[in-house]
Amino acid sequence: MSETLAESYEKSQGVRDFLSLIRNYQGITELDATIVNALIDKILVSEREKLSDGTVQQEIKIYYKFIGFVGELHITPTKRWTALKPKNCTVCGVEYVPRSAISKYCPECRKRIRKAQETETKRRSRERNRQVCIELSAKNDRLM
Ligand SMILES: [Zn+2]
Repeated sequence: MSETLAESYEKSQGVRDFLSLIRNYQGITELDATIVNALIDKILVSEREKLSDGTVQQEIKIYYKFIGFVGELHITPTKRWTALKPKNCTVCGVEYVPRSAISKYCPECRKRIRKAQETETKRRSRERNRQVCIELSAKNDRLM
């Protein structure tokens, strides 16, 4: 019983210390490293866990200075979080982080290749049109 009381006293003392620490950072809009270091003792990130419904869950426990562990954050990593491993571009060999598993080229090369493909498609369709014209005129020649 007395232990619990001591514990809760300790905790409320911790909260007070924590709050006075936070007060120094009033008006912050962004957490920079200094603030994070000042307020947070440690952050534990669990392994990603794949749930039966296919979603991925990761547990992040933040231990604040003075008050310790407050609560669990359950986060579902977004696509960006589940970023794929860096790959080497099959054209220039540069290492890049692919946006999809089937990606083969770095953004630079992809741009270049897409452009080349577009030009090629245009050239082909122009050629095809020309072909049709020739066929038509040949047909007309025969008809005449
Ligand atoms: Zn490349």
